Amino acid sequence: MADASAECNIKVLCRFRPLNQSEIIRGDKFLPIFQGDDTVIIGGKSFVFDRVFPTNTTQEQVYNSCAKQIVKDVLDGYNGTIFAYGQTSSGKTHTMEGKLHDPNGMGIIPRIADDIFHHIFAMDENLEFHIKVPMYSNISRSLSKTNLSVHEDKNRVPYVKGCTERFVSSPEEVMDVIDEGKSNRHVAVTNMNEHSSRSHSIFLINIKQEHVETEQKLSGKLYLVDLAGSEKVSKTGAEGSVLDEAKNINKSLSALGNVISALAEGTKTHVPYRDSKMTRILQDSLGGNCRTTMFICCSPSSFNEAETKSTLMFGQRAK
Ligand code: ADP
Ligand code: MG
Repeated sequence: MADASAECNIKVLCRFRPLNQSEIIRGDKFLPIFQGDDTVIIGGKSFVFDRVFPTNTTQEQVYNSCAKQIVKDVLDGYNGTIFAYGQTSSGKTHTMEGKLHDPNGMGIIPRIADDIFHHIFAMDENLEFHIKVPMYSNISRSLSKTNLSVHEDKNRVPYVKGCTERFVSSPEEVMDVIDEGKSNRHVAVTNMNEHSSRSHSIFLINIKQEHVETEQKLSGKLYLVDLAGSEKVSKTGAEGSVLDEAKNINKSLSALGNVISALAEGTKTHVPYRDSKMTRILQDSLGGNCRTTMFICCSPSSFNEAETKSTLMFGQRAK
């Protein structure tokens, strides 16, 4: 069992991407002023996080400074969640996935897949590992829909009905599952504009280990969540069912914010996990002695100043 005395562990990290081509052409200003390794100033206002990554930070630096330790903890029997929050095009997918098959461009998820198997090969030969990932091709789409139900098993662990799982035995197999999920999602939503940025994408790595002689068991799981874009609905010009879906997403993001800030306060006995499907699913991997890391992803452009400030405020609530 995980050590119950470990402190509650929520880290909030902020990452700014560089200005992109169209922002440069438009003549947008580069806003952030970085101070030390934990502070950024936007429009005269300072925001302090556990760490602030300026635009030139590499994927490897990001991984080493946060996710690496979480992998060790999950192998030690802790649960964890890593989120990326921010408006569309702020760098969430770049941070979580990056270029899946490029050693320099790889984001957190492929690095975690590699790292887990590295650790396992170096561990006691008497430990038997069972690593499962979900066939989550549908979950991100489904989470924003009302017809998808979150159930609880006999141990009151929430799960998504109809979501299948697959055992994996190498980083390549993990990547195959992600690649398949992406191509499925593509087929299903071809005529919905920008759909993937308006839905949450949730990945899970579930690790069970058993000692072959003592039969001692240990399990840990890690949720990896690329959240839907946090921009205000009004900006997206959505109508009808797309608007309803956008409202649902905004509701689930604010429910997540409420849960994280209740956990960060530490004194609250009531954490409103039940207010959204996503927080119900993540319940046993958020708070307590779980490892929780939130990436606050931001655009540096003056054009996005208001949205960037609201993103930074969201991150501050978790502190
Ligand atoms: P989001 O998932 O938040 O909508 P993306 O991760 O897709 O945003 O990023 C938008 C674009 O910016 C992509 O082309 C991505 O490659 C690029 N980008 C994002 N973050 C960085 C970064 N830190 N360095 C270089 N390019 C980045
Ligand atoms: Mg994205």
